[in-house]
Amino acid sequence: MTINSCSNSMLTFASCILLGACAGGTAKKNRLKPKGLLFSTNSGLTWPTEGRVISPYGYRSGRMHNGIDIKGTNRSSIYAVDKGKVVFAGSMSGYGLSIILKHKDHFSLYAHCSELKVGKNSYVRKGQTIALTGSTGNASTEHLHFEYLNANKEALNPLKYLRAPKP
Ligand SMILES: [Zn+2]
Repeated sequence: MTINSCSNSMLTFASCILLGACAGGTAKKNRLKPKGLLFSTNSGLTWPTEGRVISPYGYRSGRMHNGIDIKGTNRSSIYAVDKGKVVFAGSMSGYGLSIILKHKDHFSLYAHCSELKVGKNSYVRKGQTIALTGSTGNASTEHLHFEYLNANKEALNPLKYLRAPKP
């Protein structure tokens, strides 16, 4: 079974503020299951939503996927992975309704939302609900496309920063 949650055409969007985009093509279903990890006592970022990772970070079919895709179900809550300031809240071509948070040394991005719960320049706390999942922009299924970037706006593998799974 393959899942193609982000459309190829996102790659053609050159004016995106920060980032690369979802790679197209097919990807093997990732077996990571973050559901239920939100309240882990390990340090690290809060999971941005509950749900299965349906597409990992990295190259898919020769194209770079700058984030992870997490399945959304009936407008799941999206949480700020850390405290920060909203530096973008609105619609971005390809990404649809999106939020970008600036943290101390990093940025996080949440795309394809159905609804935004915070406005630009507001401050959010870790774990605060900032949006609801959807399929706005180029998304073939309801999911959160999540990116985590360093201060130079280079995409990092989010799974290295999110809280470790419970044993
Ligand atoms: Zn994606």
